[in-house]
Amino acid sequence: MPDTALIPRRGVLLILSSPSGAGKSTLTRNLIEQDHGIRLSVSVTTRARRGSEIDGVHYRFIARDDFLEMRERGDLLEWAEVHGNFYGTPRKPVEQALTAGEDMMFDIDWQGTKQIVEKMPDDVSSVFILPPSMAELRNRLERRAEDSPEVIARRLANAREEIAQWQTYDYVLINDDLQRTFGELRAILDSERLRRERHPALAGFVENLLSEET
Ligand code: 5GP
Repeated sequence: MPDTALIPRRGVLLILSSPSGAGKSTLTRNLIEQDHGIRLSVSVTTRARRGSEIDGVHYRFIARDDFLEMRERGDLLEWAEVHGNFYGTPRKPVEQALTAGEDMMFDIDWQGTKQIVEKMPDDVSSVFILPPSMAELRNRLERRAEDSPEVIARRLANAREEIAQWQTYDYVLINDDLQRTFGELRAILDSERLRRERHPALAGFVENLLSEET
């Protein structure tokens, strides 16, 4: 009897977007730690490294000239300028994941999401995380204490722009309770993995099924 769990499927490209401080990084980290079937896309950025960040893990921190060169060569699947810095997704790991049927997660903004959706509409599932209130968003950014007051002010101003894009996402979660939101995110990933379109071998399975004598 064929094992349906062994039927190969296409990978899920799970995109998570939100304004800075809505809890997206924690959700991303938790999902990567708890679900070994999904890998995080490590972006390149021209932004300065924060104290807690590790080069090659959170981002690959690169010079502006190197970023422009990568973009010119077509090495980036998408790119955007956010808060005055460049960010981009290296193309190769994504293509490798898709062909290997592996899932990949992206912590990118709405501009990048739009570009990946345009290029790979059948593979993407996009999730937008909203803060419960703007006051809570400010609290979280201030508690993080990793950015200067000017940077926090800029991030708050940009948050409104980012939030305005909520309707372009497949799923929208309000993060007023991290555990609950995390459960919802897991449910989304589990369901997306089961979508019919991601299981090209199902047609053959069903054909065999129907050819069985009953
Ligand atoms: P942060 O500087 O706080 O790490 O990130 C700022 C914003 O840039 C976040 O909204 C984050 O999701 C977004 N971002 C990070 N990497 C990428 C990327 O590769 N492409 C795009 N388009 N946005 C990114």
